[in-house]
Amino acid sequence: MKIAIFRGHNTIYNTGAVGIRKEDDLINEVAFKVIDKLKNFGQDVIDCTPTEAEFKYIKSTTDSLSLRCKKANTANVDMVVSIHFNAYNGQAHGTEVLYVSEKGKDLAQPIQNEIVKLGYTNRGVKKRTNLYVLNYTIAPAILIECCFCDSNIDMNLYDSDKIATAIVQGLLHVEGKFILTEPTATKSQIDEWADERFLDGSYKELLDIYWTECTAKEINPVIPFAQMCYETGFLYKISSTAGIDASYHNPCGLKTSQGGSDTSSSAHKKFKNWSEGITAHLDHLSLYLGLEGYPKAYSPDPRHFSWLKGKVKVVEDLGSTWTNSSTYSDTLLKFIKEIEDTIVEENNCSEELKELKVKYSKLENQIKTLLEEQDNLKKQNQTLKDEKENLITLGNKYKALLIEIARYVKEKTDVLNK
Ligand SMILES: [Zn+2]
Repeated sequence: MKIAIFRGHNTIYNTGAVGIRKEDDLINEVAFKVIDKLKNFGQDVIDCTPTEAEFKYIKSTTDSLSLRCKKANTANVDMVVSIHFNAYNGQAHGTEVLYVSEKGKDLAQPIQNEIVKLGYTNRGVKKRTNLYVLNYTIAPAILIECCFCDSNIDMNLYDSDKIATAIVQGLLHVEGKFILTEPTATKSQIDEWADERFLDGSYKELLDIYWTECTAKEINPVIPFAQMCYETGFLYKISSTAGIDASYHNPCGLKTSQGGSDTSSSAHKKFKNWSEGITAHLDHLSLYLGLEGYPKAYSPDPRHFSWLKGKVKVVEDLGSTWTNSSTYSDTLLKFIKEIEDTIVEENNCSEELKELKVKYSKLENQIKTLLEEQDNLKKQNQTLKDEKENLITLGNKYKALLIEIARYVKEKTDVLNK
C-alpha cells in the first residue's frame, strides 16, 4: 500500500495553532512515528510535507497545501493522511477525524476508534466539504485532529507513541495489543513483578538483555519478557515438558532447524549463553513481525524461515502463529497487564527518606550532647556564683578587720606618743 502522510502546517505562511504546546511540534512527534511504524510494516510511505528547500514556492497557505496534494497525486498514492491537532477555547477536548468521500469515511472510522480507546473524548468522524487537502487529492483522504493542543485534559493524556500506534492500527485494521511500541511499563515495574515470581535474582541478567535489545528494535520489551517467563515456566520453577533446563539458554522453546517432538529435549536448540538465546528469540519475533531487514542473512535463530515473515502484529496473533494454543495469547496478555499495573515505590523517594532519617538521628544526638553541656555549664555557673558570693563575704570581713586593726594601731600609737 502506498500512503501519503501530510504533516499539517509546518511551512512558511502556514503555521499551526499554539496552545499549551505548539501544534507543529506535536504533529511532527506523531507523524514521524507513524511514518516509521508504517515503514516497519513494509508499507510504502511518502512524507508530502514541503521541505525547506521548497519554501521558495510558497507565498500563501494554499501554496503550502497544493504542493502536498500535487506530490501525493504525482506519486499515485492509495490514501492520504493529514495529521493535525485542534485548538479552540482551552475547554474543548477530544478527537475527530474529518473526511469528504465515503471511502474517506471508511478510513476515518477505525482510526477514530483506536485513538478514542486511549481515553480521548469521542467527537466522532465528521464530513467536511471545505478542506483543501480533502478536496484536491485524487486518493481518498482524511484529516486527523488527534486532540486539542490547548486543552489541559488532552495534553495530560497525550503520548505521541500511543497516538501514532493508534493511527497505524486504524490504518492497517489491526486490533489488539501491538508488539511494536515503546515500553508499556518501566524496567523497575518488570523487575518488581518478576522479583515476586522468580524468588531469586535469576531473571535479572535476562531482563537487562531484553530491555537493551528490545528498545533498540522498538519492540515493547514487556512482551518478549512475558513470553520468556511463560515459555520457561519462570526459568524452570515449573519443570519443562521438553525436559530442558536453564543450561539450554533457550528463552522461548525454540527448536533446532530439524525440529521434532515438543516433549523431546534433543529437538530443542541449546544456545551458548543467554545473550545468544535472547538474540535468537528477538530475531524470531522480528521475523514474525515482518520488520525491515528480516529474515537476516545470519541469525542464531535456528528457525529463521522466510515464510514466517509478517504473520504477527499484535499479541493476540501469537496463539495461532507462534504456537498453536488457545490459551497462549490470553496468558501473555494477563502477564503483560500485571506488569503494567505493578506499582513501584519511587526509589528516589525512599533513598531520600533514608538519608533524611540518618540526618535526623545525627541531629538528635547533637541536640542531646548540647543539652548535657548546657546542664553542666549551668551547674558550673552556679558554683562560680556561690564562690563569688563567698569571696565577697570574705572580702568584706577582711576589710572590716583591716579597719579594726588600723583603729587599734592608731589608738596604741596615740597612747605611746603621749
Ligand atoms: Zn491544524
